[in-house]
Amino acid sequence: MKKGINFIEQIIKQDLLKGFNKKALKFRFPPEPNGYLHIGHVKAICLNFNLGEKYGASVNLRFDDTNPVKEDKKFVDGIKEDINWLGYKWKEELYASDYFEQLYKWAHLLIEKELAYVDSQDSEKIASQKGTPTKSGSNSPYRNRSVEENKKLFTSMFKGKFKEGEHVLRAKIDMASPNMLLRDPVIYRVLYREHHRTKNKWCIYPLYDWTHGQSDYIEQISHSLCTLEFKPHRDLYDWFLDSLAPLKKMRPKQREFARLNLSYTVTSKRKLFELIEKKYVNGWDDPRMPTISGLRRRGYTPESLKKFVELAGIAKRENLIDLSLLEFSVREHLNIISPRVMAVLNPVKLIIINYPENSDEILEGEINPEKPELGKRKIPFSRELYIEREDFKEEANRKFYRLTLGKEVRLKNAYIIKGESVIKNNDGTIKEIICSYDPKSKSGSDSEESKRKVKGTIHWVTIKHSLVIDVNVYDRLFSVPSPDSDKEIDFKSFINSESLKKVKGYIEPSLSTASKGDHFQFQRLGYFILDNIINKKLIFNKTVGLRDSWSKK
Ligand code: ATP
Ligand code: MG
Repeated sequence: MKKGINFIEQIIKQDLLKGFNKKALKFRFPPEPNGYLHIGHVKAICLNFNLGEKYGASVNLRFDDTNPVKEDKKFVDGIKEDINWLGYKWKEELYASDYFEQLYKWAHLLIEKELAYVDSQDSEKIASQKGTPTKSGSNSPYRNRSVEENKKLFTSMFKGKFKEGEHVLRAKIDMASPNMLLRDPVIYRVLYREHHRTKNKWCIYPLYDWTHGQSDYIEQISHSLCTLEFKPHRDLYDWFLDSLAPLKKMRPKQREFARLNLSYTVTSKRKLFELIEKKYVNGWDDPRMPTISGLRRRGYTPESLKKFVELAGIAKRENLIDLSLLEFSVREHLNIISPRVMAVLNPVKLIIINYPENSDEILEGEINPEKPELGKRKIPFSRELYIEREDFKEEANRKFYRLTLGKEVRLKNAYIIKGESVIKNNDGTIKEIICSYDPKSKSGSDSEESKRKVKGTIHWVTIKHSLVIDVNVYDRLFSVPSPDSDKEIDFKSFINSESLKKVKGYIEPSLSTASKGDHFQFQRLGYFILDNIINKKLIFNKTVGLRDSWSKK
């Protein structure tokens, strides 16, 4: 299917047709370093960087660092690491704080043009004069201060002569505007906080709206793309640039697209913080988190995240994308890149009664059927094996295609076996399954027996050669599609209590040389990533099952 270009590209195409110089196209990704990036940000990153690639335009990474209360250098580093991992290269690494000086000068210019004033009311008072969407606000009693007085007060704010909250600088726009954001917004506040870059140089900080458009102008960003919640801010974005006129250089334009909302997921940084603080997860990179760092540890690949964003598309209206699309994207990529191996996560012992004792052999299995050129791997076989407990039933109906007594199944990459009897524990559970095997039925051999049709194939490992592994089996973090849609109900009440199960398992010995970060398909079980190796013990995270198991629930 050939997809049309998205509506943002349409806008750019139109601009170019109207004579906009292609060489002047420039984009930016503007994260606030107050947390790590999440799957929603991946959409904004891909949108901007893909446009950059398509038009040969540069893309800046600009940290929107205007609020020292919540921002931190460690988030700056994390964000850079995540974008690098996605495989994108920014042109310049810039910071809104690089422009504090210029913004301060421009604020003086606004005052001189009588487009800004110092208000000496507290924030509650200011809020009480805001009005409502249907009712005009009322003017501050300080609205008509003289230019001189405003300049003096603003300079004193800058010099640290006032306490926090004593004075603010407000744009002088219109307290009756139907757009509430234009009702004399605050553009500077006093804040005695050390900034991660400017340290204690500033005790006044500019607010987002006053900063963003001007930063875009300074960097000469042609199309400033942001999410829909900023749509009402566009008037303000334009008002500020108008108020600085005449501007000599190109004026940036803000354009909005729909946020990515993902089912069974929350993406607000505030809520992600809460999950960490209240210990529902183990940090930002917990593999259940929708953060890039969490997805990476879960086994997602940059390719799969980009593919997902492409499939989800760039929309004009808010929508909810199903998590199964994300899982589909990763499954598709992992299918191509992951070597196949056999692991047993819920073992029961199986003895092949007619297989000679102390006589192992080496069998072969495909590394990856998608890449036959990779050849085969060696798999030892012997008399005593583990298989999955679920793969055996003493008695079963005709639809059970796995092992039962009296019926045949194939052991993957090995022989056909038949269930003979069971030995039980005192509590009635199965201790050992006794089977017989057909020595002529070896997989891949030319014998008639090996071509015999049996109903099922099950996986296994030898008890003697297999490695003991730890596996974190993850499931969705929330049990409902929209955990945060109802403001009245705490989103945390929808947490899936079964989102992590720690399991001990066994894996074939070919894994002894695996490295951290390697992806594998555990045959019949799903995709797994080697998360860590501690004292030679391999610890895996489950990325996703082989099939969408949720669609049936
Ligand atoms: P959140 O609201 O999740 O806490 P944010 O919007 O405050 O995140 P920023 O660091 O300000 O996070 O976002 C950087 C850029 O990423 C902005 O341009 C923003 O519009 C975009 N962005 C944030 N969340 C999403 C999302 N869910 N889908 C698409 N783009 C997003
Ligand atoms: Mg935001």
